[in-house]
Amino acid sequence: MDALDILTDLENVIPYFQPIFSADEQRVIAYEVLGRYRSDGNIISLGPFFHDDQIPDEYKYEVDQLLVKKALERALELEDDVSIFLNRDADLLMYRHGEPFLHELMAFEKKGLNLKRIVLEISEGNYEGDIDQLDHLLQYYRTYGIRLAIASIDSESNFIERIGQLSPDIIKINLQALKSNATSTNFTDVLFTLSLLARKIGATLLFENIEMSYQLQYAWKNGGRYYQGFYLQPPVPMFVERDALKGRLKGKFHEFIAYEKRKLEAIYSTAEFFQNKVQDIVIRNKKVNYEELFASLVKELDQIAFRMYVCDEDGFQKSANYFKGESGWSTQIEYIQKNWSWRPYFLENIIKMRNERKGILSDLYSDIETGDTIRTFSYPLNGNDYLFIDITYQYLFENEQLL
Ligand code: CA
Repeated sequence: MDALDILTDLENVIPYFQPIFSADEQRVIAYEVLGRYRSDGNIISLGPFFHDDQIPDEYKYEVDQLLVKKALERALELEDDVSIFLNRDADLLMYRHGEPFLHELMAFEKKGLNLKRIVLEISEGNYEGDIDQLDHLLQYYRTYGIRLAIASIDSESNFIERIGQLSPDIIKINLQALKSNATSTNFTDVLFTLSLLARKIGATLLFENIEMSYQLQYAWKNGGRYYQGFYLQPPVPMFVERDALKGRLKGKFHEFIAYEKRKLEAIYSTAEFFQNKVQDIVIRNKKVNYEELFASLVKELDQIAFRMYVCDEDGFQKSANYFKGESGWSTQIEYIQKNWSWRPYFLENIIKMRNERKGILSDLYSDIETGDTIRTFSYPLNGNDYLFIDITYQYLFENEQLL
């Protein structure tokens, strides 16, 4: 495909629209505009044209401006709570200081298109210009109500940093990486972090490239409010019925919810199991020292636990670690007086246990020393001391609802 072919044949440059669905309403809330070129009856993506460094910016700008124009012309027929996502490459954004593009948008505002409906999907791929100037322009656009989205695709390395700097309205997460199992564990953890970050800064998570049911489930489970991908709807030359997927999405959500509830029930009953078991043993061993208590616990939890210790409510360890290595259980006295109050949720959990006089089964996390995925059951022994029992991966694996 030659750039000049396109430039001399602009009537065959057309916008395609890929709908974006929301979880809360299960209907279309936006469209992403994608550039296409019609050539001999074939529809070709204009992506390569826009990403080609050899093509001068003014050519790209001309084609892009036409696309935006054609797309927004069509958008005028949409209901006024449907947003339009426009892909903006940083170089293209900075073209003539971003003025012509803004004027274009303002012309549509006069025709009745509220600029709050415009979302700029910023990609900074090969941008080598001044980042402060770019950010300044973006903040200026925002004063018109225009919203910003950034995508995780091309700028992985400084993605988190850019989220901090731009505080985007929407964070787009590409689920393509979820296809290979090798990366998914770490990817899941990174995503979890992103969902926390999004929540903190008030950004909405949009998951794109959803191509299979499990990816949708994943998006739903990880705080995704907006969804986009072939599994839902491929890019099409026309708008779709807003409620087209409502029934299907509702059905899917019922599945996801049922699955998640079963899991949560399993975690709850496991917590109950530990509560009863540990309480029994602790009551029977009221008068003994901690090492004797551990020995009694091990009699019943030998296949389940691999580490036990006791802390006071400020997180100072009052017992040694009782640890199960390759050669069985042993005492590690070097842990006495270590402090764990700095660990996430530590104090929250202490207060919770103290007030509810009940143990807590933790979430899944990686043990710092063994690297295994584990959970911890913690239990209030008396007014001041708290027992911690780390549960083996093997046990969680055998009770797969716990993983
Ligand atoms: Ca995009």
